[in-house]
Amino acid sequence: MNLEVVTIGTELLLGFTLDTNGAEIGRELAALGIRVVRRTSVADRPDEIRDAVESALRRSGAVLTTGGLGPTRDDITKRIVAELYGWPLDFDEGLWQALVERYRRRGRIPAESNRSQAEVPRGATVLPNQWGSAPGLWLEGPPGLTVMLPGVPLEMHHLLAEEVAPRLATRGGGSVIRSRTVRVTGIPESTLAERLGEIETAIAPLTLAYLPGLDGVDLRVTAWGLAAAEATRRLDAAAAELRVRAGDVVYGEDSDDLAALVLEVAREAGATIAAAESCTGGMLGARLTEIPGSSDVFVGGAVSYADHAKTALAGVPPALLAAHGAVSEPVAVAMAEGIRERLGADLAVAVTGIAGPGGGTADKPVGTVCFALSGGGETVSSRAILIGTRAEIRYRAAQAALFLLLKRLRLSFPGPEQGRTRK
Ligand code: ATP
Repeated sequence: MNLEVVTIGTELLLGFTLDTNGAEIGRELAALGIRVVRRTSVADRPDEIRDAVESALRRSGAVLTTGGLGPTRDDITKRIVAELYGWPLDFDEGLWQALVERYRRRGRIPAESNRSQAEVPRGATVLPNQWGSAPGLWLEGPPGLTVMLPGVPLEMHHLLAEEVAPRLATRGGGSVIRSRTVRVTGIPESTLAERLGEIETAIAPLTLAYLPGLDGVDLRVTAWGLAAAEATRRLDAAAAELRVRAGDVVYGEDSDDLAALVLEVAREAGATIAAAESCTGGMLGARLTEIPGSSDVFVGGAVSYADHAKTALAGVPPALLAAHGAVSEPVAVAMAEGIRERLGADLAVAVTGIAGPGGGTADKPVGTVCFALSGGGETVSSRAILIGTRAEIRYRAAQAALFLLLKRLRLSFPGPEQGRTRK
Protein backbone atom coordinates (compact mmCIF):
# COMPACT_ATOMS: atom_id res chain seq x y z
CA MET A 1 0.00 0.00 0.00
CA ASN A 2 1.25 3.48 -0.92
CA LEU A 3 0.30 6.54 1.09
CA GLU A 4 1.12 10.26 1.05
CA VAL A 5 1.51 12.48 4.08
CA VAL A 6 0.39 16.10 4.15
CA THR A 7 1.50 18.09 7.20
CA ILE A 8 -0.41 21.31 7.60
CA GLY A 9 0.87 24.42 9.37
CA THR A 10 2.40 27.70 8.26
CA GLU A 11 4.92 27.32 11.11
CA LEU A 12 6.34 24.24 9.34
CA LEU A 13 7.11 26.33 6.24
CA LEU A 14 8.54 29.23 8.23
CA GLY A 15 10.89 26.79 9.93
CA PHE A 16 9.70 27.49 13.46
CA THR A 17 8.44 23.94 13.87
CA LEU A 18 10.27 20.87 12.63
CA ASP A 19 8.02 18.33 10.95
CA THR A 20 8.48 15.64 13.58
CA ASN A 21 4.98 14.33 12.82
CA GLY A 22 6.01 13.50 9.26
CA ALA A 23 9.11 11.68 10.50
CA GLU A 24 7.16 9.66 13.06
CA ILE A 25 4.50 8.69 10.54
CA GLY A 26 7.20 7.54 8.09
CA ARG A 27 8.80 5.28 10.70
CA GLU A 28 5.55 3.91 12.11
CA LEU A 29 4.00 3.10 8.73
CA ALA A 30 7.21 1.58 7.35
CA ALA A 31 7.05 -0.93 10.18
CA LEU A 32 3.60 -1.91 8.89
CA GLY A 33 4.84 -2.34 5.33
CA ILE A 34 3.14 0.83 4.11
CA ARG A 35 5.24 2.98 1.84
CA VAL A 36 5.08 6.72 2.39
CA VAL A 37 5.74 7.81 -1.18
CA ARG A 38 5.57 11.56 -0.71
CA ARG A 39 5.40 14.09 2.10
CA THR A 40 4.14 17.61 1.53
CA SER A 41 3.97 20.50 3.99
CA VAL A 42 1.47 23.28 3.31
CA ALA A 43 0.38 26.53 4.95
CA ASP A 44 -2.94 26.86 6.82
CA ARG A 45 -4.61 28.10 3.66
CA PRO A 46 -7.74 26.40 2.30
CA ASP A 47 -6.63 26.44 -1.34
CA GLU A 48 -3.20 24.99 -0.45
CA ILE A 49 -4.71 22.23 1.70
CA ARG A 50 -7.32 21.34 -0.92
CA ASP A 51 -4.72 21.14 -3.66
CA ALA A 52 -2.34 19.01 -1.56
CA VAL A 53 -4.98 16.50 -0.42
CA GLU A 54 -6.71 16.27 -3.80
CA SER A 55 -3.52 15.65 -5.74
CA ALA A 56 -2.23 13.15 -3.13
CA LEU A 57 -5.48 11.17 -3.41
CA ARG A 58 -5.33 11.27 -7.21
CA ARG A 59 -1.72 10.03 -7.26
CA SER A 60 -1.70 7.49 -4.44
CA GLY A 61 -5.28 6.84 -3.35
CA ALA A 62 -4.44 7.31 0.34
CA VAL A 63 -3.41 10.36 2.36
CA LEU A 64 -2.73 11.05 6.01
CA THR A 65 -2.87 14.67 7.19
CA THR A 66 -1.80 16.27 10.45
CA GLY A 67 -2.76 19.73 11.72
CA GLY A 68 -5.45 22.22 10.90
CA LEU A 69 -8.07 20.35 12.91
CA GLY A 70 -8.32 22.34 16.14
CA PRO A 71 -10.61 25.29 16.90
CA THR A 72 -7.82 27.86 16.43
CA ARG A 73 -7.56 26.91 12.79
CA ASP A 74 -11.31 26.96 12.24
CA ASP A 75 -11.29 23.25 11.35
CA ILE A 76 -10.29 24.05 7.82
CA THR A 77 -8.85 20.64 6.98
CA LYS A 78 -12.05 18.85 7.98
CA ARG A 79 -14.26 21.18 5.90
CA ILE A 80 -12.10 20.91 2.84
CA VAL A 81 -11.78 17.12 2.96
CA ALA A 82 -15.54 16.73 3.54
CA GLU A 83 -16.12 18.83 0.41
CA LEU A 84 -13.72 16.65 -1.61
CA TYR A 85 -15.77 13.57 -0.63
CA GLY A 86 -19.04 15.45 -1.22
CA TRP A 87 -20.15 14.62 2.33
CA PRO A 88 -22.06 17.13 4.47
CA LEU A 89 -21.00 17.83 8.06
CA ASP A 90 -23.30 16.41 10.73
CA PHE A 91 -23.35 17.66 14.30
CA ASP A 92 -22.35 14.75 16.59
CA GLU A 93 -24.06 15.16 19.96
CA GLY A 94 -21.84 12.52 21.63
CA LEU A 95 -18.67 14.31 20.58
CA TRP A 96 -20.12 17.61 21.75
CA GLN A 97 -20.96 16.20 25.18
CA ALA A 98 -17.42 14.79 25.49
CA LEU A 99 -16.04 18.22 24.64
CA VAL A 100 -18.32 19.95 27.18
CA GLU A 101 -17.19 17.44 29.80
CA ARG A 102 -13.54 18.05 28.93
CA TYR A 103 -14.00 21.79 29.40
CA ARG A 104 -16.01 21.28 32.60
CA ARG A 105 -13.16 19.31 34.20
CA ARG A 106 -11.00 22.40 33.70
CA GLY A 107 -13.67 24.70 35.10
CA ARG A 108 -14.53 26.15 31.72
CA ILE A 109 -17.43 26.23 29.25
CA PRO A 110 -16.80 25.74 25.52
CA ALA A 111 -17.45 28.74 23.28
CA GLU A 112 -20.09 28.62 20.56
CA SER A 113 -17.26 28.43 18.01
CA ASN A 114 -16.18 25.12 19.55
CA ARG A 115 -19.39 23.51 18.26
CA SER A 116 -17.74 23.11 14.87
CA GLN A 117 -15.32 20.66 16.49
CA ALA A 118 -18.20 18.27 17.06
CA GLU A 119 -19.11 18.25 13.37
CA VAL A 120 -18.25 15.08 11.51
CA PRO A 121 -18.33 14.46 7.76
CA ARG A 122 -21.20 12.03 7.12
CA GLY A 123 -19.66 8.58 6.49
CA ALA A 124 -16.45 9.34 8.42
CA THR A 125 -15.25 7.27 11.37
CA VAL A 126 -14.34 9.27 14.46
CA LEU A 127 -10.96 8.37 16.01
CA PRO A 128 -11.44 9.36 19.65
CA ASN A 129 -8.79 11.69 21.06
CA GLN A 130 -8.59 11.59 24.85
CA TRP A 131 -5.40 13.72 24.82
CA GLY A 132 -6.92 16.78 23.12
CA SER A 133 -10.13 18.34 21.90
CA ALA A 134 -10.08 17.55 18.17
CA PRO A 135 -10.70 13.89 17.26
CA GLY A 136 -9.00 12.19 14.34
CA LEU A 137 -11.14 11.30 11.32
CA TRP A 138 -11.03 8.35 8.93
CA LEU A 139 -12.77 8.77 5.56
CA GLU A 140 -13.01 6.04 2.99
CA GLY A 141 -14.95 6.61 -0.22
CA PRO A 142 -14.61 6.98 -3.97
CA PRO A 143 -11.75 9.55 -3.78
CA GLY A 144 -9.74 7.09 -1.65
CA LEU A 145 -8.66 6.92 1.99
CA THR A 146 -8.08 10.10 3.99
CA VAL A 147 -6.97 10.00 7.61
CA MET A 148 -6.89 13.32 9.47
CA LEU A 149 -4.94 13.68 12.71
CA PRO A 150 -4.39 16.67 14.99
CA GLY A 151 -1.11 18.59 14.66
CA VAL A 152 -0.09 18.53 18.33
CA PRO A 153 2.68 15.88 18.34
CA LEU A 154 1.55 14.09 21.52
CA GLU A 155 -2.04 13.76 20.26
CA MET A 156 -0.84 12.73 16.81
CA HIS A 157 1.45 10.11 18.37
CA HIS A 158 -1.31 8.46 20.41
CA LEU A 159 -3.88 8.48 17.61
CA LEU A 160 -1.36 7.11 15.12
CA ALA A 161 -0.29 4.26 17.38
CA GLU A 162 -3.64 3.41 18.91
CA GLU A 163 -6.22 4.16 16.21
CA VAL A 164 -4.52 4.38 12.83
CA ALA A 165 -1.78 1.73 12.95
CA PRO A 166 -4.14 -1.12 13.95
CA ARG A 167 -6.53 -0.16 11.11
CA LEU A 168 -3.72 -0.02 8.56
CA ALA A 169 -1.88 -3.10 9.84
CA THR A 170 -3.80 -5.49 7.61
CA ARG A 171 -3.18 -3.37 4.50
CA GLY A 172 0.58 -3.80 4.38
CA GLY A 173 -0.10 -7.34 3.15
CA GLY A 174 1.73 -8.84 6.16
CA SER A 175 4.98 -7.25 4.99
CA VAL A 176 7.27 -4.69 6.64
CA ILE A 177 9.75 -2.02 5.60
CA ARG A 178 12.69 -2.38 7.95
CA SER A 179 16.17 -0.82 8.08
CA ARG A 180 19.49 -1.56 9.72
CA THR A 181 22.41 0.84 9.93
CA VAL A 182 26.08 -0.07 10.05
CA ARG A 183 28.09 2.89 11.39
CA VAL A 184 31.61 3.57 10.17
CA THR A 185 34.02 6.42 10.84
CA GLY A 186 37.44 7.71 9.82
CA ILE A 187 37.09 6.94 6.12
CA PRO A 188 35.93 9.13 3.21
CA GLU A 189 32.71 8.05 1.54
CA SER A 190 34.42 7.37 -1.81
CA THR A 191 37.11 5.15 -0.25
CA LEU A 192 34.40 3.32 1.64
CA ALA A 193 32.45 2.76 -1.59
CA GLU A 194 35.57 1.22 -3.14
CA ARG A 195 35.95 -1.10 -0.17
CA LEU A 196 32.34 -2.23 -0.39
CA GLY A 197 32.60 -3.00 -4.12
CA GLU A 198 29.52 -4.42 -5.81
CA ILE A 199 27.67 -4.69 -2.53
CA GLU A 200 24.31 -3.62 -3.98
CA THR A 201 24.15 -6.80 -6.08
CA ALA A 202 25.17 -8.96 -3.14
CA ILE A 203 22.44 -7.67 -0.84
CA ALA A 204 19.60 -7.32 -3.40
CA PRO A 205 16.62 -6.95 -3.10
CA LEU A 206 17.67 -4.89 -0.08
CA THR A 207 18.77 -1.34 -0.88
CA LEU A 208 21.76 0.55 0.49
CA ALA A 209 22.07 4.27 1.31
CA TYR A 210 25.32 6.07 2.21
CA LEU A 211 24.55 8.72 4.83
CA PRO A 212 27.64 10.84 5.51
CA GLY A 213 27.60 13.05 8.61
CA LEU A 214 29.89 14.37 11.32
CA ASP A 215 30.05 11.00 13.09
CA GLY A 216 31.27 9.28 9.93
CA VAL A 217 29.26 7.46 7.29
CA ASP A 218 26.13 5.50 8.15
CA LEU A 219 25.40 2.61 5.82
CA ARG A 220 21.65 2.09 5.95
CA VAL A 221 20.30 -1.05 4.38
CA THR A 222 16.54 -1.39 3.90
CA ALA A 223 14.24 -4.33 3.26
CA TRP A 224 11.09 -3.28 1.41
CA GLY A 225 7.83 -5.17 1.60
CA LEU A 226 9.14 -8.48 2.95
CA ALA A 227 7.62 -10.67 5.64
CA ALA A 228 8.98 -9.64 9.05
CA ALA A 229 11.09 -12.77 9.65
CA GLU A 230 12.48 -12.73 6.12
CA ALA A 231 13.35 -9.02 6.43
CA THR A 232 15.23 -9.64 9.68
CA ARG A 233 17.10 -12.62 8.22
CA ARG A 234 18.19 -10.66 5.15
CA LEU A 235 19.10 -7.56 7.18
CA ASP A 236 21.26 -9.70 9.49
CA ALA A 237 23.06 -11.17 6.50
CA ALA A 238 23.48 -7.77 4.79
CA ALA A 239 24.79 -6.12 7.97
CA ALA A 240 27.30 -8.96 8.41
CA GLU A 241 28.43 -8.59 4.80
CA LEU A 242 28.81 -4.82 5.22
CA ARG A 243 30.85 -5.31 8.38
CA VAL A 244 33.20 -7.73 6.65
CA ARG A 245 33.69 -5.54 3.59
CA ALA A 246 34.05 -2.25 5.48
CA GLY A 247 36.47 -3.87 7.94
CA ASP A 248 38.19 -1.96 10.72
CA VAL A 249 36.27 1.30 10.20
CA VAL A 250 33.02 -0.15 11.54
CA TYR A 251 32.24 0.94 15.09
CA GLY A 252 28.63 0.05 15.66
CA GLU A 253 25.08 -0.32 14.44
CA ASP A 254 21.84 1.66 14.43
CA SER A 255 21.86 4.31 17.19
CA ASP A 256 25.18 3.19 18.74
CA ASP A 257 27.17 6.14 20.07
CA LEU A 258 30.95 5.92 19.89
CA ALA A 259 31.51 7.38 23.37
CA ALA A 260 29.05 4.90 24.87
CA LEU A 261 30.79 2.00 23.10
CA VAL A 262 34.21 3.16 24.37
CA LEU A 263 32.89 3.18 27.92
CA GLU A 264 31.21 -0.19 27.48
CA VAL A 265 34.29 -1.96 26.13
CA ALA A 266 36.59 -0.27 28.66
CA ARG A 267 34.26 -1.28 31.49
CA GLU A 268 34.25 -4.91 30.32
CA ALA A 269 38.05 -4.77 30.20
CA GLY A 270 38.33 -3.05 33.57
CA ALA A 271 40.35 -0.24 31.95
CA THR A 272 40.30 3.44 32.94
CA ILE A 273 40.67 6.35 30.52
CA ALA A 274 42.05 9.90 30.66
CA ALA A 275 42.26 12.63 28.03
CA ALA A 276 44.45 15.63 27.26
CA GLU A 277 42.68 17.98 24.89
CA SER A 278 43.75 21.05 23.03
CA CYS A 279 41.65 21.89 19.94
CA THR A 280 38.63 19.90 21.16
CA GLY A 281 38.54 22.05 24.31
CA GLY A 282 36.88 19.43 26.51
CA MET A 283 34.53 17.97 23.91
CA LEU A 284 36.01 14.53 24.38
CA GLY A 285 35.42 14.68 28.11
CA ALA A 286 31.92 16.03 27.47
CA ARG A 287 31.07 13.18 25.06
CA LEU A 288 32.24 10.60 27.60
CA THR A 289 30.65 12.17 30.67
CA GLU A 290 27.34 12.64 28.84
CA ILE A 291 26.87 8.88 29.22
CA PRO A 292 25.44 7.89 32.61
CA GLY A 293 27.80 5.78 34.68
CA SER A 294 30.95 7.05 32.94
CA SER A 295 32.76 7.72 36.22
CA ASP A 296 33.94 4.14 36.68
CA VAL A 297 35.87 4.37 33.38
CA PHE A 298 36.66 8.02 32.65
CA VAL A 299 38.91 9.39 35.36
CA GLY A 300 39.24 12.89 33.92
CA GLY A 301 41.41 15.01 31.72
CA ALA A 302 42.89 18.38 30.98
CA VAL A 303 41.88 21.13 28.60
CA SER A 304 45.48 22.14 27.89
CA TYR A 305 44.94 24.83 25.31
CA ALA A 306 47.83 27.29 25.64
CA ASP A 307 51.40 26.00 25.44
CA HIS A 308 52.08 26.67 29.12
CA ALA A 309 48.87 24.82 30.03
CA LYS A 310 50.19 21.77 28.13
CA THR A 311 53.26 21.98 30.34
CA ALA A 312 51.45 22.75 33.61
CA LEU A 313 48.59 20.24 33.19
CA ALA A 314 50.10 17.43 31.13
CA GLY A 315 53.82 17.89 31.77
CA VAL A 316 54.81 18.59 28.16
CA PRO A 317 58.45 19.82 28.18
CA PRO A 318 58.70 23.43 26.91
CA ALA A 319 61.67 22.40 24.76
CA LEU A 320 59.48 19.88 22.92
CA LEU A 321 56.87 22.56 22.24
CA ALA A 322 59.60 24.92 20.99
CA ALA A 323 61.13 22.27 18.77
CA HIS A 324 58.00 20.82 17.15
CA GLY A 325 55.17 23.28 17.76
CA ALA A 326 51.98 22.59 19.76
CA VAL A 327 50.37 20.76 16.84
CA SER A 328 52.80 17.91 16.40
CA GLU A 329 52.93 14.19 17.06
CA PRO A 330 55.76 14.46 19.65
CA VAL A 331 53.66 16.96 21.65
CA ALA A 332 50.57 14.75 21.35
CA VAL A 333 52.64 11.82 22.65
CA ALA A 334 53.90 13.89 25.60
CA MET A 335 50.36 15.08 26.37
CA ALA A 336 48.99 11.51 26.37
CA GLU A 337 51.82 10.11 28.48
CA GLY A 338 51.74 13.06 30.85
CA ILE A 339 48.01 12.92 31.55
CA ARG A 340 48.02 9.13 31.86
CA GLU A 341 50.77 9.20 34.45
CA ARG A 342 49.37 12.17 36.37
CA LEU A 343 45.89 10.69 36.59
CA GLY A 344 46.98 7.06 36.90
CA ALA A 345 44.78 5.87 34.04
CA ASP A 346 45.30 2.70 32.00
CA LEU A 347 44.78 4.48 28.68
CA ALA A 348 45.08 8.12 27.70
CA VAL A 349 44.31 9.92 24.50
CA ALA A 350 45.59 13.32 23.41
CA VAL A 351 44.34 15.67 20.69
CA THR A 352 46.07 18.79 19.43
CA GLY A 353 45.19 20.49 16.18
CA ILE A 354 44.37 23.58 14.16
CA ALA A 355 40.60 24.01 14.01
CA GLY A 356 40.79 27.28 12.05
CA PRO A 357 39.62 29.33 10.38
CA GLY A 358 43.01 31.02 10.89
CA GLY A 359 46.35 29.64 12.05
CA GLY A 360 47.11 27.24 9.20
CA THR A 361 50.52 27.06 7.51
CA ALA A 362 51.82 25.32 4.40
CA ASP A 363 52.97 22.22 6.25
CA LYS A 364 50.22 22.39 8.92
CA PRO A 365 47.06 23.51 7.12
CA VAL A 366 43.78 24.18 8.94
CA GLY A 367 42.33 20.81 9.91
CA THR A 368 45.70 19.29 10.84
CA VAL A 369 45.13 17.27 14.01
CA CYS A 370 47.65 15.13 15.86
CA PHE A 371 46.55 12.30 18.11
CA ALA A 372 48.33 10.06 20.57
CA LEU A 373 47.23 7.05 22.52
CA SER A 374 49.21 5.90 25.52
CA GLY A 375 48.76 2.70 27.48
CA GLY A 376 49.81 -0.94 27.76
CA GLY A 377 53.50 0.02 27.68
CA GLU A 378 53.45 1.96 24.44
CA THR A 379 52.37 5.27 22.96
CA VAL A 380 51.37 5.58 19.33
CA SER A 381 50.69 8.79 17.46
CA SER A 382 49.01 9.73 14.21
CA ARG A 383 48.22 12.80 12.19
CA ALA A 384 45.16 13.57 10.08
CA ILE A 385 43.83 16.44 8.04
CA LEU A 386 40.14 16.90 8.85
CA ILE A 387 37.81 18.95 6.71
CA GLY A 388 35.00 21.37 7.48
CA THR A 389 34.29 24.45 9.52
CA ARG A 390 35.89 25.06 12.91
CA ALA A 391 32.96 23.35 14.66
CA GLU A 392 33.08 20.37 12.28
CA ILE A 393 36.84 19.92 12.63
CA ARG A 394 36.56 20.00 16.42
CA TYR A 395 33.71 17.45 16.41
CA ARG A 396 35.50 15.19 13.92
CA ALA A 397 38.68 15.38 16.04
CA ALA A 398 36.78 14.25 19.14
CA GLN A 399 35.11 11.45 17.17
CA ALA A 400 38.48 10.33 15.76
CA ALA A 401 40.00 10.30 19.26
CA LEU A 402 37.14 8.18 20.55
CA PHE A 403 37.59 5.79 17.64
CA LEU A 404 41.31 5.43 18.43
CA LEU A 405 40.33 4.49 21.98
CA LEU A 406 37.73 1.99 20.79
CA LYS A 407 40.08 0.30 18.32
CA ARG A 408 42.79 -0.02 20.95
CA LEU A 409 40.37 -1.38 23.51
CA ARG A 410 38.96 -3.91 21.07
CA LEU A 411 42.46 -5.05 20.07
CA SER A 412 43.78 -5.34 23.61
CA PHE A 413 40.64 -6.60 25.26
CA PRO A 414 38.50 -8.51 22.74
CA GLY A 415 35.73 -9.06 25.24
CA PRO A 416 32.09 -10.09 24.96
CA GLU A 417 31.22 -6.86 23.08
CA GLN A 418 32.97 -8.31 20.01
CA GLY A 419 30.52 -11.11 19.59
CA ARG A 420 27.49 -9.08 20.51
CA THR A 421 24.73 -9.03 17.96
CA ARG A 422 22.53 -6.00 17.83
CA LYS A 423 18.97 -6.03 16.66
P1 ATP B 1 -4.96 23.33 17.30
O1 ATP B 1 -5.73 24.06 16.25
O2 ATP B 1 -5.75 22.95 18.48
O3 ATP B 1 -3.73 24.09 17.67
P2 ATP B 1 -4.31 21.46 15.21
O4 ATP B 1 -4.64 20.04 15.02
O5 ATP B 1 -4.97 22.40 14.28
O6 ATP B 1 -4.52 21.90 16.68
P3 ATP B 1 -1.95 22.80 14.67
O7 ATP B 1 -2.58 24.04 15.17
O8 ATP B 1 -1.62 22.72 13.24
O9 ATP B 1 -2.79 21.55 15.06
O10 ATP B 1 -0.64 22.53 15.53
C1 ATP B 1 -0.67 22.46 16.95
C2 ATP B 1 0.72 22.38 17.50
O11 ATP B 1 1.40 21.24 17.00
C3 ATP B 1 1.60 23.57 17.16
O12 ATP B 1 2.43 23.90 18.27
C4 ATP B 1 2.45 23.09 16.04
O13 ATP B 1 3.70 23.75 16.02
C5 ATP B 1 2.59 21.61 16.33
N1 ATP B 1 2.66 20.88 15.06
C6 ATP B 1 1.80 20.97 14.05
N2 ATP B 1 2.17 20.20 13.01
C7 ATP B 1 3.33 19.62 13.38
C8 ATP B 1 4.23 18.71 12.74
N3 ATP B 1 4.01 18.25 11.50
N4 ATP B 1 5.34 18.30 13.42
C9 ATP B 1 5.56 18.76 14.67
N5 ATP B 1 4.76 19.62 15.32
C10 ATP B 1 3.67 20.04 14.70
